[in-house]
Amino acid sequence: MAFVHALIDKLLESPAVSVTEAGEQLLAALSAGQLGRDAFLNDPLALVGPPYFASRYLAQVTLRTVKGEYETLEEVVASLSALIERNPPILEPKRQATADRVVLPEAKVLDLRYPVKVDGGVWESSIDALVTSGPFRDSEVRIRIRSDQNRTACFLVPHLWIHSAIAAYNLAPLGEGDFAACAETFFVLEPMRQVNATSIARSLHCTRPQLDQLRRGKGDVTIHTLKGQLVHSLFDRMLEGASNMESAYREVLPGFLVALASVTDEFFDEEAFRADVLRHTGSLEEFIERNPHLLEHSQLELKRYSATIGIQGRIDAVFRAGNRIDILELKTGARIRPEDHAQLFIYRLLLSDLVRRWQRNDGQDVEVTSRLLSSVDGSFAPLRVTTDFYQVLDARNKLIAMQYAVGRNAPHIAPRHEGFNEQICGSCPSWTRNRCKEMSDV
Ligand code: SF4
Repeated sequence: MAFVHALIDKLLESPAVSVTEAGEQLLAALSAGQLGRDAFLNDPLALVGPPYFASRYLAQVTLRTVKGEYETLEEVVASLSALIERNPPILEPKRQATADRVVLPEAKVLDLRYPVKVDGGVWESSIDALVTSGPFRDSEVRIRIRSDQNRTACFLVPHLWIHSAIAAYNLAPLGEGDFAACAETFFVLEPMRQVNATSIARSLHCTRPQLDQLRRGKGDVTIHTLKGQLVHSLFDRMLEGASNMESAYREVLPGFLVALASVTDEFFDEEAFRADVLRHTGSLEEFIERNPHLLEHSQLELKRYSATIGIQGRIDAVFRAGNRIDILELKTGARIRPEDHAQLFIYRLLLSDLVRRWQRNDGQDVEVTSRLLSSVDGSFAPLRVTTDFYQVLDARNKLIAMQYAVGRNAPHIAPRHEGFNEQICGSCPSWTRNRCKEMSDV
């Protein structure tokens, strides 16, 4: 890839160059000055064939640059830099490639075939990609996906876009450069990007609420969310051994005053707010009194991320005692919702590689318990699994696709449920349906 380095250096050495001029420089470098701009625009594949033999990816980047489809030179350089090897993401131990299953740690999409119906009501789609990392690096591959083998992967294809980065796991080899998706195959779209577990948990059923939030800008700040954050801070203090919540409240409050001032008016009852927060901490203190061992067990690092599946999250409390791990997720809302269980499931997923490492090192099984703790009354609910790994990853990929689409003038996918749809929305609570209906264009 020294050639790509040289191309990038050349572009960076001439900073005043425009995107289209950079395109002409690329074309000249790739064709040794033999292929003119007009001839290339008439037949872009000429650069891929003899005598130039440029890779399809480089030819596509050159075409987009010559046409001025990139907004800045940095975007052109970023597209070229994708060809330079990075450290591939670390595979979780149970997901190591086996002899008959292949992993492509990173590849750039060159072409997409959207799902089409074939015999027997089965749908087929495919992805052509240039592998940029791992043992198949620099080769062009085709991945064929059938809905009867892997429906989720088959219908993910329309969410990808040309030159998006993907990681593909558990592919079945068919022939040279030819792979098929099987039931265990999963894709990670833009694997270097991390998506928050909370956003994914909220999007498992529908990405619409997250899309609305994205369009509005930063997440909503309300008195309720601030109260929740305060209770979380005080819970952290409690686990560190603080016993006087009144004085802990006084210490923590100044950090929230600016945010509180932005969402309150002169009718804000500060005393009632304080009493409400302390009511929650009172319930939590009772919970800890009933479970004093929690203060003795070592706490694990709370911020977790997975480089394999591009998901991150901060767990409220994780305790380890011997070969037992206890995950505790604090909820301050009036009731525990299905998405809270989904969030806990994702945290468990994020801890799974750590757990497997321990199991391998210690040679003994690790028991994991996970609970949602309500600060309203100090009650807790064990994890109710309502989702699975593939659904979580699918929601994550679709959020990435949606974020990409929102930033484009001509989005590659229509934001989901742009028009209210009774059939799909029937399972949402009425207040959600009303809100979505009001915010839809219909
Ligand atoms: S009401 Fe419909 S659009 Fe709104 S969140 Fe539910 S499924 Fe999505």
